[in-house]
Amino acid sequence: MLQTARFLCKGDRDQHIATACVGIAVVQPDCTTESLLGHADLALSQARAKGRSNWHLYNPGDGTRESLLDRTSQLALITDALHDNRLALFLQPIMSIQAGRAVHYEALLRVRTPDGQILPPAPLIAAAEASGLIREIDQWVLQHAISLIASQPGLHLAVNLSARSLDNPELPAQLQAMLEQQGVQPHQLILEITETATLNQMTHAEILLTGIRALGCKLALDDFGVGFSTFQYLKHLPVDFVKIDGSFIRTLDHSEDDRLFVKALVEAIHGYGKLAIAEYVETEAILRWVTELGVDYAQGYHFGRPQPAESVLPLKPG
Ligand code: C2E
Ligand code: MG
Ligand code: MG
Repeated sequence: MLQTARFLCKGDRDQHIATACVGIAVVQPDCTTESLLGHADLALSQARAKGRSNWHLYNPGDGTRESLLDRTSQLALITDALHDNRLALFLQPIMSIQAGRAVHYEALLRVRTPDGQILPPAPLIAAAEASGLIREIDQWVLQHAISLIASQPGLHLAVNLSARSLDNPELPAQLQAMLEQQGVQPHQLILEITETATLNQMTHAEILLTGIRALGCKLALDDFGVGFSTFQYLKHLPVDFVKIDGSFIRTLDHSEDDRLFVKALVEAIHGYGKLAIAEYVETEAILRWVTELGVDYAQGYHFGRPQPAESVLPLKPG
């Protein structure tokens, strides 16, 4: 029998829970030390992919090796795109429900292949996160988003930041330098972070986020509701916006449970002095529901899909 590990450490102010993932490989008559450790390693990456406190038993038939090989080719794709200048930012509007107009845009990464195809970012970003390349990608995204704001007076842009970038204590100083260099007002930049990113390193993330907010940038908690977080946790996190995960929004017109959940979330978000954004508003009917439930902003295909920046904004020439 195997139990997953969970450690409780009490600090002066907080309690921290450390969890562990375990990869298991069974000794076979013909295995070598290298193959055994290799299989345990593959099983560990599968365990990590399931989330915190998980274990996985290596099974040659479960495609682990294939998915890692796939990850290697995804990493090669995004590395080449970064070096060959084939990354792009697409923009999607975030609408104020009351005002009925776009108040800011989310910048979403896209990768162009040499033959001009546009690739969706999720598997590429997962590969970049696993390898650490994501820090360079995040820096590229920040630089380009800030230049875009500088070229477009009055533009407010939200940028996704990976959990790995929250490890970097220099981030507030780097951000400040980029903003000053381009003459951009910090409040025009919103940084989106996920709850898993902040939960994994709560105290550390809180300090960093407080530093970023002290610069004057805004913060949004992305994909809220799908992780392990509680309302109590929401109270402590220094964010301005909370983005309710799209999986609860797209079902609002037929799920009473999701309506109750979103209603409770919106009340908590407002109770803690933050603003609620609904992701995946795909239809007029969903828009009516989010309006009824008191959500402040809406984002989704109903208003527009992510588009190349130049087709969304009337950019200044040059
Ligand atoms: P996210 O930050 O939650 O972004 C929202 C995702 O939902 C985007 O997918 C967007 O295209 C999609 N979406 C928007 N409206 C709708 C809708 O009405 N219905 C549906 N089904 N989907 C909708 P995308 O662009 O594929 O990005 C996926 C994820 O990749 C993002 O989720 C974010 O976590 C990550 N990501 C994207 N760009 C960046 C980036 O520049 N840096 C980092 N670190 N992560 C990024
Ligand atoms: Mg986002
Ligand atoms: Mg999201």
